[in-house]
Order: sequence, then C-alpha cells, then structure tokens
Amino acid sequence: MNWIARYESYMLKRVLPEQGSFSALEYLRIVIFYKSVIYILPFAFVVLIPGMYYSIITHENYVAIFDFITYSTIVSLVFVNSISVNVKKIIFTLMLFHLTFQLFFRLETPTIGMLYWLISNISVVLLYTKRVTILIGIFNFIVCIFIGIFIKLNYFDLISFRYSDIIEWVIISLNMLFLNIIISILIDHILTKLQHVIYAQIDTRNNLENSVIQLQNKNDELEHMTYVASHDLQEPLRMVTSFLTQLDTKYKDQLDQRGKQYIHYAMNGAVKMREVMLEILAFSKIGMDNSQIELIHLNELVDEVLWMNRKLIQENNSQIIIEQLPDMLGHKILLRTLFTNLISNAVKYKSNARISIVKLTCDIEENDYVFKIIDNGIGIPDEKKDQIFQLFNRGDVNKNQVQGSGIGLAICKKITLLMNGEISVSSVYNEGCTFTVRLPKQQTKTTNL
Ligand code: ADP
Repeated sequence: MNWIARYESYMLKRVLPEQGSFSALEYLRIVIFYKSVIYILPFAFVVLIPGMYYSIITHENYVAIFDFITYSTIVSLVFVNSISVNVKKIIFTLMLFHLTFQLFFRLETPTIGMLYWLISNISVVLLYTKRVTILIGIFNFIVCIFIGIFIKLNYFDLISFRYSDIIEWVIISLNMLFLNIIISILIDHILTKLQHVIYAQIDTRNNLENSVIQLQNKNDELEHMTYVASHDLQEPLRMVTSFLTQLDTKYKDQLDQRGKQYIHYAMNGAVKMREVMLEILAFSKIGMDNSQIELIHLNELVDEVLWMNRKLIQENNSQIIIEQLPDMLGHKILLRTLFTNLISNAVKYKSNARISIVKLTCDIEENDYVFKIIDNGIGIPDEKKDQIFQLFNRGDVNKNQVQGSGIGLAICKKITLLMNGEISVSSVYNEGCTFTVRLPKQQTKTTNL
C-alpha cells in the first residue's frame, strides 16, 4: 500500500503545476485529471501491451497500431511538460471518446463501448465546467440520433453491429443518456458543495492568519510599551531612592523613631520596585536580541550558572548533580537565563525536612534534547502547576520566606517557545518536582514572540 502512495506522491510532485492563478475548483479538476492519468499509465500498460501482442500475431494490425497510439498518448500526458494542462485534458477526453467509438463499432457487442461512453462522460463532468458538460451531453444526444438513423437505413449491415432494431436502440440510448444526466447532476452537485467547503476553509484560514498578524502586532506593541515603561520608570525611581537617602542622612536627627521607620519602609519598597522593574525589562527584552545561533557546550554553560549562583547554593546547602550534557546549537544568553532560573528555583524551593538535592539530566531523542531539572524540594500542588508559568504568579509559596517576583518561569516559557520547544512540570507536593524542557536539535535564528 505504501509504495502505491509513494508512487502517487512522486508522480504528482512531477506533474502538478503550482496552484497560482487557478481557482480552488479548477485546481481540484487538474488534480483529478493528473491522478487519473498517473494511475491509467501502469494499468494501461497491463491492458494494452498484451492486446498489441495478440493483434500482431493474429494480424489484426489496426488494433496494435491503435493500442500503440493510445499508450503513447497516455505516456506523453504524464511526461511531456511542455503541453499545457488544458490541452492535455482535451487530448485525454478525445482519446477516451475515440476508444469508446472504436470499441462500440468494432466489437460484436456494443456493451463495452457503452461502458466506456459512460466513463468518458463522467470524466467530462469531473474535468470540465458545466457548460462543456452540457455541450458534450448535446453531442451525445445527436450521436445517438444519428446512430438511430443509420440503424433505420440499415447502414450498420456493413459493419458487425448487433443492433438492427431501432426500438431496441432507442431504449438503450435513452437509458444511457438518462444515466448520464443523473451522474452529471450528482457530480456537479458534489463539486459545487466541495467548492463551497474549500472557499469556507480558505476564508477561515485567511481570518485566522489576519488574527495571528493582529495578535502579533498587539504583542509587539505591548512588549515595546513594557520595555519603554520599565526603562523610563528607572529614572524617577532612582530620584525617589536618592532623595529618600538624602532625607535619611540630612534630617536623621530631626526625625523620631516612627519617621525613620517610614523612610526605611519607603526605601525597601523602592529597592523592591527597582528589582521588579529590572526583571520586567529583562522579560520584555527576550527575543529582541536576534544575535547568532552558536554551538554551546552545555556543561560549560551550566558550570558558569552554578558559579554565578554559588552563594545561593551554599546558603541552602544544596547538592547539585549535573549529568553529561550535549553540545547544542542555541542562543547562549537565552539558554543561560533558562538554566539559571530553573536551577535557582530548584535550590530556593527546598524542603526543610531534608538535604536539598538538585539534578540536571538530558535525554537525546531523534529530533529533540529533553532536559530534566529534578529536585526534592517543597513541590507544587496540582492546581498550581499550570499557573506558575504565568507572569507574576508565585504559586503556593510563602512570599515572606522565599524571595522572588514570579517572573522567572514566565521567562523560561518564553525562551522555550522562542526556541520552538516546550516546558512542563510534574510534581508530588511536599516531595519535589521535575521541570522538563524539550528543545529541538534544529535551531534557527530566534524571532520575536
Ligand atoms: P519566583 O521564583 O520569583 O517566585 P518563578 O516564576 O520562578 O518566580 O516561579 C513561580 C512560582 O513557581 C514560584 O513562586 C514557586 O511557587 C513555584 N516554583 C517554581 N520552581 C519551583 C520548584 N523548583 N519547586 C517548587 N515550587 C517552584
């Protein structure tokens, strides 16, 4: 079955023109036409070649010549690219009608000819517009009348045609024309419906594409606004901090204990606000930097991350196990940020009930690297697992116990999406959690999200 599908897709790729200016229905007709000829090609070989051989040994040379011409025509329909598809369709139809009338008049019984006549008409409905179908219908009708006249005039005595009774012919030809009309109406109905479905699909796709573009623009706008806001707020915030410091140093003696405490709270708030704004700034900058993808030795990069977080690791007395990691193509800053957030979280959210152990592993699959950051910390309750990847969501954690702003995992999610990957978490509450990051081996230039 598989080789039939492979034959079909190989041949279609060879013969099908670009959809370009064809309407959906026109293109569907072209596909039907080419599908027919690429299947007729091998089957005609099976039917026509033995026929040719038989007619040569029985000295019925005209059949051999006819078969040869027919087969050459089919071959040229498939392999000659210089003939336009419309001309090919006409050649194909003429060939079918020619075959029909040859079988009709040359065989003793016209049954096979009738069958081919019907098939030729079906192919006309499938391949041409309604107008052409009606014209061919009229042509059929006229041919039937002429055959009737010839039967009446006994012209067919000259050739071996079985029908000599005009009434019998009228019944047979009317039945064939009737079948023809029914089939034409049905196929036309199906094609028209199909056309509506195709147009509806195209509409939906266009709408979807427009929505994606609009969404992308809104996202860019929003990201730019976030960037500008968090960047521009730095200066007034710096002023607030600096005047608070001056207030504290110059007027310390004139302030009572409560006044000093108020200044202290205000300073803390300003510092916290600055931290949050810097993180928002970092978040909005991700993806703006379109620098080159490079080969990264992940073990070296993670060593750097551990070095930068050594104070946190020491404070939490964490044991870190890093397995052999691959060298991968990627964006150094993005990968460093990703591993920094995941490892520092695994260290930060440790359980007081046991020594903190954090492990980083990597499975190399056919197309992806699958990293796992496993810890034995406090874990995450089921209902919070999806929410923690949202901006500013701090899950179930006691906000006073562990410092944070709820941005780290949103950054991780953004980075993995930028790298066409995905991130997820599994956890048993109070026992620890595993963050899984799947990144495709094939990395192209980063784009804005
Ligand atoms: P932050 O750590 O600054 O709060 P994150 O976005 O990095 O922000 O994490 C969001 C929340 O997810 C955290 O507040 C915490 O509740 C939860 N979380 C993240 N990593 C872990 C982990 N390794 N173990 C338990 N909870 C975690």
